[in-house]
Amino acid sequence: MTSEQRPVAMITGGSRGIGRAVVTRLARDGYDISFCYASNAEAGEKAAAEARAFGGRVLARQVDVANMAAVQEYVKETETELGRIDAVVTVAGIIRDKPLAMMSDEDWDSVIRVNLDGTYNVVRAAIRRLMKRRAGSIVTVSSVAGVSGNAMQTNYSASKAGIIGFTKALSKEVGRYGIRANVVAPGFVETDMINGLTDEYVKEMLARVALGRFGRSDEIASAVAFLLSAESSYLTGQVLTVDGGTAI
Ligand code: NAP
Repeated sequence: MTSEQRPVAMITGGSRGIGRAVVTRLARDGYDISFCYASNAEAGEKAAAEARAFGGRVLARQVDVANMAAVQEYVKETETELGRIDAVVTVAGIIRDKPLAMMSDEDWDSVIRVNLDGTYNVVRAAIRRLMKRRAGSIVTVSSVAGVSGNAMQTNYSASKAGIIGFTKALSKEVGRYGIRANVVAPGFVETDMINGLTDEYVKEMLARVALGRFGRSDEIASAVAFLLSAESSYLTGQVLTVDGGTAI
């Protein structure tokens, strides 16, 4: 494929975990890649090198998705450097788990700023570019916590439920431009994000998963790849829950 023929995917939170698996999967599928991450440059470089091995162009940038000015600059650079944007995948996210009675304003604000505002910032900065080309696919990453609510995660669950409402509303606005917008809602996935959980909590959570194990990042990336591909051409405004059958 020449660079004119390769579709371009922009992924946030691409340096580690689920985002990194999405970067690798889409690079393998023949996309040129632009991804951003918060601060871990070493992980960012590793993810970029892994993606480049598939032969496409890869742009990796340190960008805080909560900072609209930085996001606008990043999206503009992506289009200038790679020529266009076909797919947007918002994966960047954080947790600050506490019972509500113990939650600080900072715990609340930071999670909403990164997860929900970050999703808005990235999609808002990209949407006109997709509309002009009258094509594109957007996948936002929520969580089973956003679908069902999870104790100790009022901030996170609110941000992830917000992402679902945002994406469903967007799908109704931009469908006529040939743009699809869907959500992937993972259950528990083995990444750095859940590494800090206590053994007791892990045991309790595993007992709630029908398949009896946590998910892998590549299993979430498969769902993202499906939702971006022509295989899902009549699917928009949907929440694809990828959780091994989890009851939280
Ligand atoms: P992770 O391993 O902690 O990786 C998070 C990624 O997001 C990293 O690349 C990180 O960059 C980036 N990031 C964090 N804050 C950012 C910011 N302000 N601006 C730009 N990038 C930022 O997380 P994960 O487990 O892969 O989770 C990825 C997404 O899936 C999140 O939205 C999470 O809520 C969702 N999810 C995860 C699970 C799970 O069980 N793991 C379950 C459901 C949903 P650095 O490397 O620079 O820190």
